[in-house]
Amino acid sequence: MKSYDYIIVGSGIAGLYAALLAREHGSVLVITKGSVDDCNTRWAQGGIAAPIGPDDSPRKHYDDTIAAGAGLVDPEAARVLTEEAADRIDDLVRFGVPFDTQHGEIALAREGAHSAPRVLHAGGDSTGAHIELTLSSVAQQSGITVLEYTLATEILLAGGPERAHSRAPLRAVRGVRALDERTGRTTDYACRHLVLATGGAGQLYRVSTNPEVATGNGIALAYRAGAEVMDMEFFQFHPTALRLPGVQPFLISEAVRGEGGVLLDAEGVRFMPEYDTRAELAPRDIVARAILERMQRTGTDHVYLDVTHLESALVIARFPQIYRFCLDHGLDITRERIPVSPAAHYTMGGIRTNVWGETNIAGLYACGECACTGVHGANRLASNSLLETVIFAKRVVHRTLEAPGAAAEPAAGAIDLPPAAPAEAPPPSREALQSLMWDEVGIVRDGDGLARAKASLAAWQASLPAPADRPSHELADLVVCGRLVTEAALLREESRGAHYRSDFPQPREEWWRHIIFRKDA
Ligand SMILES: Cc1cc2nc3c(=O)[nH]c(=O)nc-3n(C[C@H](O)[C@H](O)[C@H](O)COP(=O)(O)OP(=O)(O)OC[C@H]3O[C@@H](n4cnc5c(N)ncnc54)[C@H](O)[C@@H]3O)c2cc1C
Repeated sequence: MKSYDYIIVGSGIAGLYAALLAREHGSVLVITKGSVDDCNTRWAQGGIAAPIGPDDSPRKHYDDTIAAGAGLVDPEAARVLTEEAADRIDDLVRFGVPFDTQHGEIALAREGAHSAPRVLHAGGDSTGAHIELTLSSVAQQSGITVLEYTLATEILLAGGPERAHSRAPLRAVRGVRALDERTGRTTDYACRHLVLATGGAGQLYRVSTNPEVATGNGIALAYRAGAEVMDMEFFQFHPTALRLPGVQPFLISEAVRGEGGVLLDAEGVRFMPEYDTRAELAPRDIVARAILERMQRTGTDHVYLDVTHLESALVIARFPQIYRFCLDHGLDITRERIPVSPAAHYTMGGIRTNVWGETNIAGLYACGECACTGVHGANRLASNSLLETVIFAKRVVHRTLEAPGAAAEPAAGAIDLPPAAPAEAPPPSREALQSLMWDEVGIVRDGDGLARAKASLAAWQASLPAPADRPSHELADLVVCGRLVTEAALLREESRGAHYRSDFPQPREEWWRHIIFRKDA
């Protein structure tokens, strides 16, 4: 078996950044299931948050992060995020990420629910593409081995020593099993440190801003191996994705509303001030629900985002990617309103880690969107996700040197998914799964719909044949993630952050806690 000090699964910002730091300390293998740049990162538009402006401070950024998370942000994780932000931005600049500047200083945009301008961007709205291309080319120059079109399919475990003060046995990682999509061959790789940087699960939903690769693999792999998974009921829906017939939902960044874009309904009426005093700059869940309600009221599948009153030159300079994408599809946004609707966007939950990126399995780390570090709580503050990836990737590598083989304390009160009942149901298609999740476990949920989804998902899981190729592995992992989201959403009988239940529309004190899953050994 080939052996490495570090195996990193995923080549988005979290995986590449971790790989670039880890190569200073040992041998590194990056495994990624598509081409190196196939990931959520390259689609990120608005930017990366960091409190580096003259009127800003880590404390202000911390306060905004805590406020956005609706009571469930881990204060220590938020402190780490905001205090270490400036140093990680310096690292990205050193690697060559070309952040936009104004008068010789890094330009900072303001986004919804941020109390100061603090969002760095590159190439206007092409921030993610610039970050991804920069890091992947530095990784290539550094000679890091990247296995493309290779899907991690199982975490290989060894028994570990008993914990000194805990009755839970410490499991330990010994490597990872991976499938080469091009040859169909499965290979086991050994490592001392396995870092999951596999991104989110946006493909759970019919309407999603996430590319095809976002199938929650890492979360499902970790869950099967016995790692804890937390906060899965909190899925962020972005309010404004382009809605054109036959065109993939394409994100129209928050920053467009930040620059003065307004939302109009099918009758041309500006409606957000009726829903929230912050109008278009209200938190995403409020804007998404308002749009949904307006679409239902006017019987349409979209509303409009209007920037025609802004200077054309500003729109084109600030949002070149959006302008170009829309123009390529016959829409000149400087002259015409943009049809938009909400879309699934960001997986707040994921593999539970401590502030060092450690999971409850020794040697298994998670960072980036697949991880749940606690910085987002029930709702992510825009542009904190790119920041989170680099903050915790750095900490993972640091930890492998300071305390190799350590693990996070297991959570008290973790539960397992109920057993999947064997059923006659035929295995689902990805499309059927996405429709079920969109209709029953979407922006507005209720107990009846969630119970229906729970039954279907359990039946589907029991009827899936053993996966043999990338699509069948992805489907099996999506079904596991769908079950984790649905079970948690059904248990959480309240509305909080991005989780909205029409049968429990208010937050409830007794739910001021996390739902954590851990598979029974
Ligand atoms: C349209 C869009 C716009 C966004 N805009 C912003 C923004 O402006 N600001 C912000 O902060 N955030 C934004 N986000 C969110 C942000 O882009 C992501 O949270 C972040 O890029 C995640 O990085 P990551 O490295 O964790 O995951 P990803 O970039 O998704 O990378 C995951 C990697 O893992 C690989 N992988 C997955 N499973 C396996 C497996 N089993 N085996 C091998 N490889 C695997 C994938 O192929 C991929 O390479 C946006 C997201 C989208 C979709």
